[in-house]
Amino acid sequence: MRSPLPDVQVPSNVPIAMHPFSDYFKGFEKIPAIRDIFGEQTEKVLSELRVEFFSSKFGYMGVSDEDGHLIVSAYYLRNGDPLSKYLDVVHELVHVRQFREGKALFDESFEYHDRPTELEAYKHAIKEARRLGMSDEELFEYLKVDWLDEEEVRKLARNLGVTPPRRIRGERVR
Ligand SMILES: [Zn+2]
Repeated sequence: MRSPLPDVQVPSNVPIAMHPFSDYFKGFEKIPAIRDIFGEQTEKVLSELRVEFFSSKFGYMGVSDEDGHLIVSAYYLRNGDPLSKYLDVVHELVHVRQFREGKALFDESFEYHDRPTELEAYKHAIKEARRLGMSDEELFEYLKVDWLDEEEVRKLARNLGVTPPRRIRGERVR
């Protein structure tokens, strides 16, 4: 038999602080890569979008699959490099559109590197990255995230038309 819990209270529902996206992220409505995502709806969607900041060292940005708001690590904003952060916003805004279209964002029947919603989001980000002059080598580095091993990053890269660096035996490839 388990002992009863100590006499404490742990809440079930707590307020989540949400802010207007456009209070913090400026100028996105003018960017062609963003207008490619939302078209005529760009201003409307961005003006309705809400963002929640969290302070964990882990994670970057995401979109809630409950109500489609953006979730962003304050740690990442402080420490991430500007280009990655910009491309991540492009990526996440594709998920915002997918959510509005009623798509399941996290379809677990696919692995991350094969999931159609992820590939679509990455395609927009990579198109913009290439326009900004990023090389395949730089793009491959950008695709490396904590939850993918080297093999999965290579698969993701191939799915996205990014050429992975050649593997050299006994040497660390960059
Ligand atoms: Zn994603």
